Amino acid sequence: MSRFLAERYASLVAYTPGEQPTDMKYIKLNTNESPFPPSKGVLDAINTDAVSALRLYPDPECGILKEKIAKQYGFAKENIFVSNGSDDILNFSFMAFCDGKKCGVAFPEISYGFYKVYADLYGVDAKMLPLAEDFSVSAEEYCNIGRTVVIANPNAPTGIALSVREVERIVASNPDHVVVIDEAYVDFGAESCIELVHQYDNLLVVRTYSKSFSMAGARLGFAIGGRELIADLDKIKYSTNPYNINRLTLLAGAAAMDDYDYYMENCRKIVANRAYTTEALTSLGFEVLPSKANFVFARSKKIGGEALYTKLKKRGILVRHFKTEKIKDFNRITIGTLGEMKSLVAAVEAILGEAAGEE
Ligand SMILES: *Cc1c(COP(=O)(O)O)cnc(C)c1O
Repeated sequence: MSRFLAERYASLVAYTPGEQPTDMKYIKLNTNESPFPPSKGVLDAINTDAVSALRLYPDPECGILKEKIAKQYGFAKENIFVSNGSDDILNFSFMAFCDGKKCGVAFPEISYGFYKVYADLYGVDAKMLPLAEDFSVSAEEYCNIGRTVVIANPNAPTGIALSVREVERIVASNPDHVVVIDEAYVDFGAESCIELVHQYDNLLVVRTYSKSFSMAGARLGFAIGGRELIADLDKIKYSTNPYNINRLTLLAGAAAMDDYDYYMENCRKIVANRAYTTEALTSLGFEVLPSKANFVFARSKKIGGEALYTKLKKRGILVRHFKTEKIKDFNRITIGTLGEMKSLVAAVEAILGEAAGEE
């Protein structure tokens, strides 16, 4: 830390992104990217006019992209906010809808690690509610909570989802606070709550192109909400960086909506590969939480979470391990292609065999 850093950031602990190592080629099951390529339409779109795409500023209103998203999900353009990854939207939501003095924020104690970082960044009082015994989010505890609520649904890193009815109870019981539902993983089999946006002006649903749309590298996220919430987010965006989505990403994002069916078919493949992985790990003695996401969260009594992570890495397979006490026995394993999942299962089996031999 330099002696120039503003005092308010002195004790800030930054988010730790999943590793993106360049030392060798790994089977990468650690940051929930899609194993499938972007659609041909997306690749064609970004190949069209590279000179203008780099020379000119992008459209700050992102009109074409917003229209495509609005049409796909049955909303008006004014209900759509787009930004540089959904992390950006979450960041803006904490800026816009959490007031340090007037109202704090509530989110699950075990969830996407960035929520706590944003709360700390803006000095917002954060109430972190423990998960239930079975690692699900206790929806009841967020009802009438009198704070901004942020919930990943399905939750990360557990993969467990709430039903729309449970989300609605939270939204309806907090009419004077914004409820942000982070649906980064919803396309992999959970119920989306976007339809509730027609009914509740305090609901913001956040989505990303990074997982189900195979575009983590493009950095694009969108949110669906009431017009006033969206206008608030635009105000923040125009007060920080109006050009925060580059031209290539705007083209890619619009083209992806034209190929929506391709992406949903990929999601169905991931769901099938998730079922395979869950069954295979379960038969190796793992406890696998019931996931509606493109990853599984699994632990074994035969090997510690960190030991399994390390041994898999030596074999060229990257998974995600969290040192947080309550989940340190688990690994979060992204669902890739069937071939990748078979390699993972074979490696886990071999590692368990070695561990048994050492006893
Ligand atoms: C991956 C992820 C994000 C971030 O997505 P980007 O659009 O890549 O910034 C947000 N929320 C959750 C829960 C995620 O897992």
